[in-house]
Amino acid sequence: MSAVERLIRYCKIDTQSNPESGTSPSSQKQFDLANVLVEELKEMGIEDAHVDEYCYVYGHLPANTDKNCKRIGFIAHMDTAPDYTGTNVNPRIIENYDGGDIELCPGVVTRVDQFPQMKKLKGMDLVVTDGSTLLGADDKAGIVAIMETIEYLLSHSEVEHGPISIGFTPDEEIGEGPKHFNYEEFGADFAYTMDGGEIEVYSDETFNAAKATVKFQGFSIHPGSAKDKMINASNVAFEFHRLLPEYMRPEHTEGRDGFIHLGKMSGNTDQAELQYILRDHNRTKLEKQIERMKDSVLYLNQIYGEGTVAIEIENSYRNMKEIIDQHPEVARIAKEAIQELGYVVECEAIRGGTDGAELSYHGLPCPNLGTGGGNFHGRYEYCCVQQLEQASQLIRLIVDKTLKETNL
Ligand SMILES: [Zn+2]
Repeated sequence: MSAVERLIRYCKIDTQSNPESGTSPSSQKQFDLANVLVEELKEMGIEDAHVDEYCYVYGHLPANTDKNCKRIGFIAHMDTAPDYTGTNVNPRIIENYDGGDIELCPGVVTRVDQFPQMKKLKGMDLVVTDGSTLLGADDKAGIVAIMETIEYLLSHSEVEHGPISIGFTPDEEIGEGPKHFNYEEFGADFAYTMDGGEIEVYSDETFNAAKATVKFQGFSIHPGSAKDKMINASNVAFEFHRLLPEYMRPEHTEGRDGFIHLGKMSGNTDQAELQYILRDHNRTKLEKQIERMKDSVLYLNQIYGEGTVAIEIENSYRNMKEIIDQHPEVARIAKEAIQELGYVVECEAIRGGTDGAELSYHGLPCPNLGTGGGNFHGRYEYCCVQQLEQASQLIRLIVDKTLKETNL
């Protein structure tokens, strides 16, 4: 079976996660793919492959060398995004893509002016959808790259390698990938999530993230006799919001800019509440944003009286780079491997979180690597076949370099 055949087979299995269910896994159908993967791993010769009650698949490829070598892990997620349907995925291959618009079905066109990065794929083979579903290359391309590598290593016993851990997780798309991750079972010293787009992109930086809930207590009184007495909680909430810099709203930020985003508001005269999310790659800057909010609370309480405004801050996740920088070999090995494939490494600071952020803070340093897919979470999603094959070569190079690294 070729990598692309494998991709198409996995994409046809519906594994959409469900943010509403409140269960783990969030949808039972993720087991449909999990069971297939366990069976395939066992057929290949991964004897301990299994799926647990939360739908996490684990397996281990033992070292075939006596040399001392760190245990390396590879992780991909099985679910597809809730944003777009993943039922009856019907992929099609475009050979030798001409670099132009692609008609997926009558009236549904992947336009190059909307997705200009597609020009770079001229001459490649692409897997695309029939325009009615997403593809699911996010992240089944990652699973394919890992499976292909394991199969290769098991059928080429002359290729020396250290111990390798395999992990396929559910519910990444609803932010719960690491929720029931069994670190002991996985057992790796460091790992890579195979969950990115272009193959030359290496990511080990995420936002630092916090949530702020600001509550306003007013003084409600009949508006007819309110003079010099009423404190309208909703108006104080507006004042608070105006004290925040407009240029830090998400719609004005990009690249390495942080932001403060008002996600929810409610209120009447008596009480009001504003909910914000705060993001920045730089932790000191994020703390400054939080300080600025706290100063605004103090200022308004001075005007309206103690207890009018209260703020609660909750930390969500942290930039994994802080952890990965403590293990420089993890970045170096991956970057060298990308270069060896003939690319110039592009380091991307993710404007969000990844499973790797939480895994890294749990003691498993875990940058993210590309698999050749693009236009994720919708019907314009595609996967570049040549880059998909290279993703598996990338893993092989990383395995090889890890062995050499510890035996210099
Ligand atoms: Zn993904």
